[in-house]
Amino acid sequence: MTVSGHTGQAAMQSVDSYLSEVLAAIRPVPPRQLGLDEAAGAVLAEDVTAAWALPPFDNSGMDGYAVLAADVAAATPERPVTLPVQDEVPAGDTRRHDLVQGTCLRIMTGAPLPSGADAVVPVEWTDGGDAGNGHVTITRAPEPGNAIRRAGGDAAPGDLLLTAGTRLGPVQIGLLAAAGRGTVTARPRPRLTVMSTGNELIEPGQPVTPGQIWESNSRMLARAAAQAGYDAARRPIVPDDKQAVLAAIEEALASADTLVTTGGVSMGGEHDIVKAALQDLGTVAFRKVAMQPGMPQGFGLVGRGGTPIFTLPGNPVSAYVSFQLFVRPAASVLQATDPEGLAATSAVLGAPVRSPSGRRSFLRGILDAAAGEVAPVPGQQSHQLASLARANALIIVPEAVTELPGGAEVDVLVLP
Ligand code: AMP
Ligand code: MG
Repeated sequence: MTVSGHTGQAAMQSVDSYLSEVLAAIRPVPPRQLGLDEAAGAVLAEDVTAAWALPPFDNSGMDGYAVLAADVAAATPERPVTLPVQDEVPAGDTRRHDLVQGTCLRIMTGAPLPSGADAVVPVEWTDGGDAGNGHVTITRAPEPGNAIRRAGGDAAPGDLLLTAGTRLGPVQIGLLAAAGRGTVTARPRPRLTVMSTGNELIEPGQPVTPGQIWESNSRMLARAAAQAGYDAARRPIVPDDKQAVLAAIEEALASADTLVTTGGVSMGGEHDIVKAALQDLGTVAFRKVAMQPGMPQGFGLVGRGGTPIFTLPGNPVSAYVSFQLFVRPAASVLQATDPEGLAATSAVLGAPVRSPSGRRSFLRGILDAAAGEVAPVPGQQSHQLASLARANALIIVPEAVTELPGGAEVDVLVLP
């Protein structure tokens, strides 16, 4: 690993170097057979080709009448053509129908085209049919092929429908279903479990006494994880106790591909229980990353399967920013696709900003994308979650820069 030192300061690692180190250590989850109901957000590990034609048979594209185009070629509003209606073919009709020349069949959208028919007259081009005498009067002549959806018109057998590496969104799932696939080989959304540590933490909805606060990180990060593509779960608050932390991690390992803890990793010595507990394992490294908020970071592999664990700082804004920078892109790596960070853009600062030397600052801001402007929000300390809730972007101030005037151009990360 690379450590960039600053004279007179503790050695800190750059954000980029830390991120690369983390992502390089993560192995993708293995692909498995997934039913379509569990495949949302999964990444295909196979090419999917059409086993059958799509659509599988010639069928009607409209509600109307299946005809031989030549039989009604002369039809006009002034000189309509009347045909006997032989039968009715609804969608799902699996009987065989043969069109007798000089007659027609009533047909519904999606119903199989009777053999011998070469056009469908939409019901709008007729008098609607007379059920009493079994005839329909046609006022307009269809071209051969009118309102017919040919077998294979969407995909032919053997056509490549989806390639390995494709993330399965709603439309891809729909296509798999349309192609008749009940299962696919894919890497499922990685399972992430988040747990917060701290003796001061109380479940929201419960009473607190002075000295206690309501726990916010685990719910916030579980939702952020779901947004980032994880299958996310949270565990109840873990007390500041080494054994309790290790036991909670051990238990979570059974059902997670990634673990996230918050709290207990800063400079509080014996009070930094997560750090103390995991340092004993020897597979988790604790770093000072040159960023603000979120300097104390930890990452490593735990358990027999080498499950990645992120130990994020406890302050809610530090935890959230660290999550977006490091844990979000890990989701794609766990699915063997390119890491995806937050969307980046640039904008003009609406007000001057300050930043500590040697650290990359991520300041909460309100981005007006249309105007190309971003304004820092008041309240930039790591515990100030209300100001994060007002922001929609993070303003990046580079390591070497300590202040920027209003009007300066800055890089901005868009919050999801
Ligand atoms: P720590 O990293 O454990 O030293 O915590 C740093 C600060 O973040 C302290 O003020 C904690 O009370 C606060 N904090 C830690 N975890 C949480 C949490 N899950 N929800 C809200 N605040 C937290
Ligand atoms: Mg703590």
